[in-house]
Amino acid sequence: MTTIEIVEVSPRDGLQNEKTLLSTGDKLALIGKAIDAGVRRMEVASFVNPKKVPQMADAEAVMAGLPARDDVTYVGLALNERGFERAVAADVDEVNFAVMASDTFNRRNQGADAFETARQLTTIADNAQGKIPIGVTIGTAFGCPFEGEVSLYRVLSLVEAIAATLPREIALADTIGVATPRDVAERVGAVRDRYPDVPIRCHFHNTRNTGIANAWAAIEAGATTLDSSLGGVGGCPFAPAATGNIATEDLVYMLDRAGIATGLDLGACIDTAQWLEGKLGHAIPGQVMKAGGFPAPA
Ligand code: ZN
Repeated sequence: MTTIEIVEVSPRDGLQNEKTLLSTGDKLALIGKAIDAGVRRMEVASFVNPKKVPQMADAEAVMAGLPARDDVTYVGLALNERGFERAVAADVDEVNFAVMASDTFNRRNQGADAFETARQLTTIADNAQGKIPIGVTIGTAFGCPFEGEVSLYRVLSLVEAIAATLPREIALADTIGVATPRDVAERVGAVRDRYPDVPIRCHFHNTRNTGIANAWAAIEAGATTLDSSLGGVGGCPFAPAATGNIATEDLVYMLDRAGIATGLDLGACIDTAQWLEGKLGHAIPGQVMKAGGFPAPA
């Protein structure tokens, strides 16, 4: 049976764009429910400037409150050396280091050109000496809100710089939800062909309703891991009109029906998405959480 790994990103990407600040306790409750639903790899915090992203100001407190689980990989997001050091000090199991494919977005997000950030990553990876797994996400890999089209050449140049740091995985992220399945097939396929030994993760936002189709295209093109968030919450505070990630329960539904194992329980995902909607106090975008699975459970 084919297997696809899901990285739950609701505690980070999901909450960072919400006006409602969830308490540390509620974040930990969300994380606990996700684990109970079968999540085994989860982005739980972002080690960014708390003045810029106040929703993530309690990153260290979240890390300190996590259940000790050898079978769960807790991932922390970092955008620079300082963030990386904070993540390691907070005892994350893995760092997700993000670089934006477009210079304009990268300057707004992390104050440097993309290849400057890639050079920082080289230093970080050299210093870490493989002691902590580093996955690298290339944001705006399918388009930038400020520069428009991002060329495949640009993405592959950045992939080349990143691959040299020997990351555990490279992710292509559609930060602003502009990708279509054809773009995904092309870009994931191009990375896979050049770096067949580097696992590929994809991160999609459903801003233009192509998210779940993109997820399918990514799997067909050889991605082994997908990011998603319960209830489809999420968005980047630095991307205009940002909307949520693909919904975990929608993804699990599609993969269940295709005979692709994720280890996640659809019913528990739906329950958790509904719980999260209650905590946020507004409707959230997930669709299967409203319609239910099929066939209906006996
Ligand atoms: Zn995102």
